[in-house]
Amino acid sequence: MADSRSTPSSSAPSSGAPPADPAPLTFRDLAAIDVGVLKGVGERTRSVLAKAGVSSVLDVLTTYPRRLVDRSKEARICDLVPDEQALVLVRVESVASRRIRGGRSMVTVRVADDTGSLDVSFFNQPFRARQFAAGQHVALFGKVGRYRSSLQMSNPVVDMIGDRTGRIVPIYPSGDSTPVTSWQFAAMVENALERCRARGIADPVPADVTGRLGLPGRHAAMRAIHLPESAEEHVAARRRLAFDELLRVQLVLVARKRAYERGARGLRHVVDGALVPAFVSALPFPLTSAQRRTIDEILADLAAPAPMHRLLQGDVGSGKTVVAVAAMLTAVQGGHQGALMAPTEVLAEQHFAGVSRLLDGFVVPDGGNLFGDRQLRVELLTSRAAAAQRREILASLADGGIDVVIGTHALIQEGVAFRSLGVVVIDEQHRFGVEQRAALRDKSGGGATPDVLIMTATPIPRTAAMTVYGDLDVSVLDELPPGRTPIATHRATGPHLAGEQWDAVRRAVEAGQQAYVVCPRIDDDPDGDTASVQRLELELSQGPLQGLRLASLHGRLPAAEREGIMDAFRRGATDVLVATTVIEVGVDVPNATVMVVVDADRFGIAQLHQLRGRVGRGSAASECWLHTAERGPSPRVEALVASTDGFALAEVDLELRGEGTLMGAAQKGESDLKLASLRRDRDLIEEARRAAFAMVDDDPALASHPDLRDEISLMLTPEEAAYLFKS
Ligand code: ADP
Ligand code: MG
Repeated sequence: MADSRSTPSSSAPSSGAPPADPAPLTFRDLAAIDVGVLKGVGERTRSVLAKAGVSSVLDVLTTYPRRLVDRSKEARICDLVPDEQALVLVRVESVASRRIRGGRSMVTVRVADDTGSLDVSFFNQPFRARQFAAGQHVALFGKVGRYRSSLQMSNPVVDMIGDRTGRIVPIYPSGDSTPVTSWQFAAMVENALERCRARGIADPVPADVTGRLGLPGRHAAMRAIHLPESAEEHVAARRRLAFDELLRVQLVLVARKRAYERGARGLRHVVDGALVPAFVSALPFPLTSAQRRTIDEILADLAAPAPMHRLLQGDVGSGKTVVAVAAMLTAVQGGHQGALMAPTEVLAEQHFAGVSRLLDGFVVPDGGNLFGDRQLRVELLTSRAAAAQRREILASLADGGIDVVIGTHALIQEGVAFRSLGVVVIDEQHRFGVEQRAALRDKSGGGATPDVLIMTATPIPRTAAMTVYGDLDVSVLDELPPGRTPIATHRATGPHLAGEQWDAVRRAVEAGQQAYVVCPRIDDDPDGDTASVQRLELELSQGPLQGLRLASLHGRLPAAEREGIMDAFRRGATDVLVATTVIEVGVDVPNATVMVVVDADRFGIAQLHQLRGRVGRGSAASECWLHTAERGPSPRVEALVASTDGFALAEVDLELRGEGTLMGAAQKGESDLKLASLRRDRDLIEEARRAAFAMVDDDPALASHPDLRDEISLMLTPEEAAYLFKS
């Protein structure tokens, strides 16, 4: 198919079309044309469509078929197999209606195609007698039965497809609640395409980009996504339109990234100082090669004048803390400060304990005293700090007496000023918003923008990262430190108080180790039988774990009490901690070797993986037991049994949940990804990102692509599009 631009006037203008205009129709033009202009769309249909979010011709054209049926190859009567579900595209031969016992009605429709015939019965749906007429074409979906010697279907899902005779029939999304049938919608699409024929649909993507990728033109693709001549044509059309969706999102993300790099004056850090090498050689273990590679990537960013904006992805236990500390020390060795921000006070406190230990005994140059140096100072700042202590910490942050500060979002509250904030590490990015990152960047002090490293223990697939965190560079710690014994994961089913999992807990405690038991609820579920922390602790202490020292923990306890319970567990004063997911992140007790998750099917893959990461932190072999009351298949639990690799699990998760959740969580680009799939279109995502970099680096505000710029502001939400124009 030729590009639409080269053939805008090759066909005759359709009736009712505006006078010939040489300019092809842009998405903006199509968005301005009301659906009411389409043939057969009256006021009633118009309001029904509006409720479904379809109000313009553009909305019609970008409502893509749910599936296509090739009537020459599939959906034939001769291929039907009794007891299986199937779709058939057939012609109505005759319709009969009668009353059966109990005053109920039965409508029987005889349908046929070139390969055979079929009887379809509808029970208690008298309107079916009026719905069908001989000669109509319908799509039927249902379970195939056998009655005497002939095939039949009862109460199938019906889609009226009119008298469409094309070989490939598009089926549009149409629920029972939508009075617009797939067939009506197809007619609207056809009419819309017809109206675009004279002027053509504009193609705002540079031809060299689509050409290099072998993608068809926009107009041709728009036609073929709805009315393909062949399966190949449809595949190419889908790729083209999916590419356009991805390109729009990537252009925004890449423009944001570049604007950030350009607009901010960063620090050129001293990357060849003595502090970082001293820190690394003082560690009781050699770095993993992934840690070394990641630190090198960060140092390269830090040496450059543009501020770093990097995501560090690493599975639980991959050793992110060491990398974060190396980044902060790079700032410190050049006379700047480092800050680490955690999502909760508990996590901030744990980071503080860990980082203080790692940095104990290090000194930094100090011209203000006789020895020329002083102890490196690490402080914790949370809302729990007493007023006087808080005042002192704030003063020392402002005069540079504190080198590394660890805290929660209290760090970005007003009143916190730094002498010179050089590197900021944000742990668990998914709990922070983009605005919070921005607020922290503005805290720098000297006017330069600090470098930002975001750490996440929630692995997400590479291409998803590119879309969700597309404004960041990404480093991956894809290797666990050596010497870890892999966690053996088992599934347990049946009543939660029976089963081997409790034997495993007892064995561990007898060997001097500890265990976690996690369940989904704090309180009893009045109308369900999901285990609760309170009931479970009681049941276990009187039942399978009798005689062991149990404690329970959940988020509703006062912070001090929670800390006391955690402390006792850390010291080994309790054997088993029964908890909600409060222990999901950050809890680090190497002596805990068994994790039992009760009602594991209530949790997501990522969450189960995080929970499992609480064990296997020492050298002893660890076990994880995932319990489900049901014995049937549980794909998420089975995925965890099969793999301990967070990235592999993230792929499975994406597979099982679909990308909606992921994009929804990130609230980015969700408005515009109708065809593109983070799962299926990996190569396209990479291509779109590459093309976006080339275009933005060439022309940062896309001044030479006004159509594309305009389309982005049309298709993406205002906040998304704003980034492109803020430069
Ligand atoms: P993460 O934050 O990525 O879950 P941590 O930074 O908490 O992981 O590290 C987990 C454990 O592994 C810590 O006890 C840490 O001291 C240890 N560790 C980190 N790097 C290494 C390494 N290269 N070799 C051995 N142990 C390491
Ligand atoms: Mg950690």
